[in-house]
Amino acid sequence: MQDKNNKDNNFFNKNPLVTFAIFSVVIILLFKTIVGDTQGTNENVAGASKRAKSINYSEFKSLISSKQLKKVDIGQSYIKAYGSDSLSVYTTRIVPGDTKLIEELEKQGIEYTGFSETNWFTEMFGWLLPFLIIIGIWMFFAGRMQKSMGSGILGMGNSKKMVNSEKPKTKFDDVAGVEEAKEEVQEIVDFLKFPARYVEIGAKIPKGVLLVGSPGTGKTLLAKAVAGEADVPFFSVSGSSFIEMFVGVGAARVRDLFEQAKKDAPSIIFIDEIDAIGKSRAAGGVMGGNDEREQTLNQLLAEMDGFGTDTPIIILAATNRPEVLDQALLRPGRFDRQVLVDKPDFEGRVKILKVHVKGVKMDEDVELEEVARLTAGLAGADLANIINEAALLAGRKSQKTVKQSDLFESVERALAGLAKKSRRINPKEKKIVAYHESGHALLAETTKGAKKVSKVSIVPRGLAALGYTLNTPEENKFMMQKHELWAEVDVLLGGRAAEEVFIGEISTGAGNDLERATDIIKSMVQTYGMSDVAGLMVLEKSRQSFLGGGMQATREYSDKMAENMDEFIKTSLKARYDTVLVRLEEYREAIEDMVKLLYKKENITGVEVREIITAFEKKNNIDSKVTKVVDEIRDELEEDAKMADEAKDVEEKSDEK
Ligand code: ADP
Ligand code: ZN
Repeated sequence: MQDKNNKDNNFFNKNPLVTFAIFSVVIILLFKTIVGDTQGTNENVAGASKRAKSINYSEFKSLISSKQLKKVDIGQSYIKAYGSDSLSVYTTRIVPGDTKLIEELEKQGIEYTGFSETNWFTEMFGWLLPFLIIIGIWMFFAGRMQKSMGSGILGMGNSKKMVNSEKPKTKFDDVAGVEEAKEEVQEIVDFLKFPARYVEIGAKIPKGVLLVGSPGTGKTLLAKAVAGEADVPFFSVSGSSFIEMFVGVGAARVRDLFEQAKKDAPSIIFIDEIDAIGKSRAAGGVMGGNDEREQTLNQLLAEMDGFGTDTPIIILAATNRPEVLDQALLRPGRFDRQVLVDKPDFEGRVKILKVHVKGVKMDEDVELEEVARLTAGLAGADLANIINEAALLAGRKSQKTVKQSDLFESVERALAGLAKKSRRINPKEKKIVAYHESGHALLAETTKGAKKVSKVSIVPRGLAALGYTLNTPEENKFMMQKHELWAEVDVLLGGRAAEEVFIGEISTGAGNDLERATDIIKSMVQTYGMSDVAGLMVLEKSRQSFLGGGMQATREYSDKMAENMDEFIKTSLKARYDTVLVRLEEYREAIEDMVKLLYKKENITGVEVREIITAFEKKNNIDSKVTKVVDEIRDELEEDAKMADEAKDVEEKSDEK
């Protein structure tokens, strides 16, 4: 839609001033031709009157009677008379009541015509009207621009009017349930408060920080709180507001924004919905692209590169979709840091509710925990809304305080409204997701070579993922061994297997897991020579994949090979799956414990997962993988040291020689 609109108005948008000038000229010309008709005669008169001799009416009459005139022009207030010698021209004021004049002229055979005089009023009007119309159009333009940029076009030369700043009173305490995000921006506050400290040391503070999270999770609020804590001006713009503007205006506004922010530094610039201007140029796909967006984006990049890390300005930008952003935006020195402002978990929701009941009279036996329990998957803005709605309900019923029942009613309304809008997890799905994710987590922690779990969550994230398990990739790891690839397959299968063991039925939620597992085994066969099917033969050359599709590799192997490979993938998936099932059965209790904890907290950490598993292993005398990993690392370190020693020996020996 956006693109289409822009195309329609393209010329118009691109050249506002040219369009405007053409408009004005056309209108003036139009008027000149209309009004000019009457002015034609006027000009004759005026031209003649330069040489015209002003005479009395009586003299004029005598000129008629003595036939000294050839032609007479009669206006409303004066008459022009042309002498028969073709040289003299006379003007005279009309004497009212001379009804005989025409008669006399005819009698003497003098040609006569009438003309309409333009008086000052029509003259002025003829000039003014086009200007009035032009001003009208100007105001229409200005109105349009005002709508999209929040200040008049007349303020274009006056940058101060284009961007507004405020000094927010918001503090970190007003932002709840996003503790990690708050910790991450804490250093920005410190930098803005005491820039000199950082500059002297030569510390490089990030210029741009991307706040990533669903709508209503408090990104704007957090940005404001940073400004509020640091007590610096807060400049706020929305990315989408640039798109509606004429080309060039967006860029000019970015320039003004930075100019103003630099003047008021230390300061914060907040760009909401940055994806509106920062959408990847490659992903746009439309030929020609969107000029306005591109110009604005380029200006933004230029401005960000334009000041050093010693200028205490921090640009915070919010987005819901970091993946669509142009890579240029994410380069070092720009938005090279991302802070996740996630949907709150249970505890977070309680905290947010507590923030918003401040100033609202609540009944003594209100339990906010109950509300938090019912609102999994909702963002801070929804929770703020629920409290306010409950207060309104209580007010309508003329209560003195908000009761728990009001809160429940409000929650119900919010959920009913949201059920359509966003994906809210229902109890049955929640159960499936909890077991599924616990399955992943257990396999990750009990399989040799698998990546450790850092977080397990059943808080839905976006429309696609209902839950997720995050793994911490090990540092300094650039390749994978065969057993590690198999471990990854096991972890992926763990989700589906858990559904089978604990729910007794398979859901569609594991589709992506299976796809990834299949891909891993396939590349083990095709690319890495890790199977007997193809041996060391590479079936698929590594190729540059362009945006994950487009070019298809030509198959360079036989049908028989393809069949064998398919068979291998299928049987090994089955074999892995069977061992995974056994593992889950073995660790049944541990899974149940994880699910219980997930139900309670919605997010659990890798540490908590490991605690549950170790407790279970201890109780059942199972040889633990968790401790085994520690042993492995120690062995590795020892081996490393031994190798280094040996290398040193060799070196010394060669030195002796
Ligand atoms: P976003 O910018 O992420 O879309 P906002 O910051 O505009 O979300 O949030 C809108 C409102 O919702 C805030 O003004 C605040 O009242 C409430 N809110 C959202 N998140 C939180 C939070 N984490 N803590 C407290 N209030 C919140
Ligand atoms: Zn999964």
